[in-house]
Amino acid sequence: MGASVTVAAALANTRTGRKVLIGVLAMILLAVGFVLTPLVAIPLAVAGQAATAPEGVPLTAPKASGEWGYPLAGAYSKGRGFGYNPVEGCGFCSTDHKGYDMAQACGSTIYAAGPGRVITAGAFYGWGNTVRIDHGDGLITIYGHMEWGSISVAVGETVTVGTPLGAEGNTGKSFGCHLHYEVLQDDVSIDPQPFMAALGLPLT
Ligand SMILES: [Zn+2]
Repeated sequence: MGASVTVAAALANTRTGRKVLIGVLAMILLAVGFVLTPLVAIPLAVAGQAATAPEGVPLTAPKASGEWGYPLAGAYSKGRGFGYNPVEGCGFCSTDHKGYDMAQACGSTIYAAGPGRVITAGAFYGWGNTVRIDHGDGLITIYGHMEWGSISVAVGETVTVGTPLGAEGNTGKSFGCHLHYEVLQDDVSIDPQPFMAALGLPLT
């Protein structure tokens, strides 16, 4: 330490030496700032987020229970439920509804409801732009009617609950922007309402 102080003192006596010293000091300050900034900024960001998030409504991800969660984040309006549900004014819409319709604004993010592997990511018959996820044990979920160009996963990709899949749209046999959420067990569509309720995620 004594030697470095002597060197610093000697450097401070010359013009070039002072420039070197100032340079070294500036680098030390930069390095300290670099280390300290995340330590201060991260707790601040976390505190800010906690302060602005309404209770029970996450800002960026849907509510989850265990390994499963809602395919939409926050509030949505219920469309058609499962079963016989003709759509007034829509001749091409099926009367026997195989899924559960949930609507937010056009372009709202749609999330994977559970962990699995993507088996469809694109146009899929009357479902329009669609993502299908194979969860294993004969369980498949379908996310239909997505916006053009919005699908953000690829076939073969592994997803977990809350992985963004695409955006709510009006493609395929659809009558206004909504998510057609469908659950299949052994290739048979089952009612998503009791299925989700059993996972602690009641659909309203
Ligand atoms: Zn539907």
